[in-house]
Amino acid sequence: MTITSIPIDAEHTNGFHQANNFGPSGAPVPSDASTLSTPDGLPDRSHRFLLRERPAGRINADTFQADVAPVPPVSDGEALVRVEWMSLDPSNRAWIGATPTYLPPVGIGEVMRGWGLGTVIASNNPRYPIGQTVQGLVGWQEYAVVSDATLLQTVDIAADVSPSKYLGALGKTGLTAWLGMHEIAKPRPGDTVVVSAASGAVGSVASQLARAAGARVVGIAGGPEKCAVLTNKLGLDAAVDYRADDWAAQLAAETPNGVDVDFECVGGPIMDAVFARLNVHARVALCGLISGYNSPEPPPGPRAFGDLLVKEVTLQGFVLKDNFTKTAQARADIAGLIGRGEFVALETVVHGFEQLPTAINMLFDGANIGKLVVKISG
Ligand code: NDP
Repeated sequence: MTITSIPIDAEHTNGFHQANNFGPSGAPVPSDASTLSTPDGLPDRSHRFLLRERPAGRINADTFQADVAPVPPVSDGEALVRVEWMSLDPSNRAWIGATPTYLPPVGIGEVMRGWGLGTVIASNNPRYPIGQTVQGLVGWQEYAVVSDATLLQTVDIAADVSPSKYLGALGKTGLTAWLGMHEIAKPRPGDTVVVSAASGAVGSVASQLARAAGARVVGIAGGPEKCAVLTNKLGLDAAVDYRADDWAAQLAAETPNGVDVDFECVGGPIMDAVFARLNVHARVALCGLISGYNSPEPPPGPRAFGDLLVKEVTLQGFVLKDNFTKTAQARADIAGLIGRGEFVALETVVHGFEQLPTAINMLFDGANIGKLVVKISG
């Protein structure tokens, strides 16, 4: 596996609101130094980030409030999890808007919702024994009291694999890509598949699944470095740099026979340009529309919408649900590709719990390659 670890610079540590007891100097107290333990060795308080206000556009210094709270007692049916890794996802931004998504908006003053992975350190629930690795909606906090309602899943970590991969290619990210590519897009040998945000978490998995299916794969990404990763590391047939002036001409040149599958992660003008190149009976797997997530107004509709009509295109939006029935098959497929050395699991690791409120914007700045995770502890 390849791990791309991008250290985050000091600038990213600044600019979020702090509660009184979060460090007198204005800097957040490192979690290991500030977390106290009870006589039985368990932590008695936990740092966390609360939603302070809904951003009108981009997440900013007023969006989150740093806080510290006592760790509640672990009641019957509950377990205490030390959160070690946090997944950062574009859906985090959607969850703090006023409009419900597939989940209700995070409430003002509530712990920020987030999908993380950690270890059970106290338990009154036999499903989650002490020492078990789990993942679920643990929230942006160092310690989480969880129950079956937390959408908790147990995870068995393979000996030679970083736990973070179970948030990425071997986790929900990989499942999302597999669902969209294999259940909706269904690429065949000889097809031309275009994947937008192709160097990102979902896109990098989706691209490689399409390549493994024998398709010609064209990835769209921002900047020459990312495009080089797509062709040189992931083995895609071509890459289009949408930040270049001639990106539309690049797209046309790299899809001379049109486009049979659009795995759409971005929306906006990029999606429009791909729509205009769709072939008759093309398939669009509508995974995400990240280019509009920070817009206060809904983005304009696709201008090339008529192409879907005249080309008899099938477009299907999809959201990975917890009742997805093909999880085992999808994981086995991806693990098989990894095992055969036919897959690269890209990842960007940011270190430190206090980085969460600023690291999230890396997704919107294109500062991540592959799955963006924050190492919290452990
Ligand atoms: P990524 O790791 O792909 O990170 C986001 C990437 O999107 C950035 O690195 C950036 O790459 C690109 N990007 C950001 N803003 C823009 C913009 N304005 N125009 C073009 N590209 C942009 O995140 P994920 O893989 O987690 O998510 C990718 C997409 O998949 C999102 O739309 C997300 O909502 C969706 N998704 C859907 C799920 C589902 O169940 N349907 C589940 C998970 C994710 P670059 O440098 O190339 O610009």
